[in-house]
Amino acid sequence: MDVPDGKIDITLPDDTAPLTRDDLLHWVKVASSNVSQYYGRFPVPHLTLRIRSDDRAGVHHGVTYARDGGLILISVGRKTDTSDLDDDWMLTHEMIHLAFPSMPRDQHWIEEGISVYVEPVARAQAGQKTAAAVWHEFARDMPKGQPDSGDEGLDNTHTWGRTYWGGALFCLVADVQIREKTHNKKGLQDALRAIRNSGGVIDEDWEIEKAFAVGDKATGTTVLRDLYRKMSNKPVEIDLDGLWKKLGVELKDGRIVFNDKAPEATIRQAITMPPALYNKR
Ligand SMILES: [Zn+2]
Repeated sequence: MDVPDGKIDITLPDDTAPLTRDDLLHWVKVASSNVSQYYGRFPVPHLTLRIRSDDRAGVHHGVTYARDGGLILISVGRKTDTSDLDDDWMLTHEMIHLAFPSMPRDQHWIEEGISVYVEPVARAQAGQKTAAAVWHEFARDMPKGQPDSGDEGLDNTHTWGRTYWGGALFCLVADVQIREKTHNKKGLQDALRAIRNSGGVIDEDWEIEKAFAVGDKATGTTVLRDLYRKMSNKPVEIDLDGLWKKLGVELKDGRIVFNDKAPEATIRQAITMPPALYNKR
């Protein structure tokens, strides 16, 4: 499959039923274009994608390796229908891993954090998810990334919550701070594009400081470096209630209500819009 600035070699399961070959290829196309739109190109020139099948419903066991410039293994259950594929987040999450260099074990949280944070944002920017659904998920799940008692900072606390949602919380706070400091002209997306465009892809081993220096240079700030120094070795509780209030995000009776008069409502709006579109308004 041709994708912007790249190619994907896809291996399909021998028997795709009840899905068709075209259903699966459409699913790959949508995920790859979510990611290409976010990064301005497909993250790597060549990806090997092996799709396997199992007896379950839905998409499972996505995993991304640095091998051969990028290898993704993912399973699609035989009880999966096309609406499950339309709702799938996992393939987009895995493809986002291609666009960031491999980190030492202690910084694994940033690899997962980027994939967890960028996946819904990229899908919203591509029109595959509503902004309300993104903020609903963030309001519901970001608290899972807060430090528990005994936490020693993101670099030293390798729990599931701190790795996935602690990393995502770091990305959300970084995105908002970059936008605050640049009058909403730049965001985390600019930093991540610059890291990818400087060669920071999955089959490169980088230190986190190198990636963050490239990202900060692209936004003309020191947000990533400063936040890393603050959050890597100490438990830092983020004032999420204050953050939602500032952005105009309110969870009311299980539904998301936006307050467009909130002081940073435009920052919230910019995050889920493609930058080219937002800057043209
Ligand atoms: Zn992941």
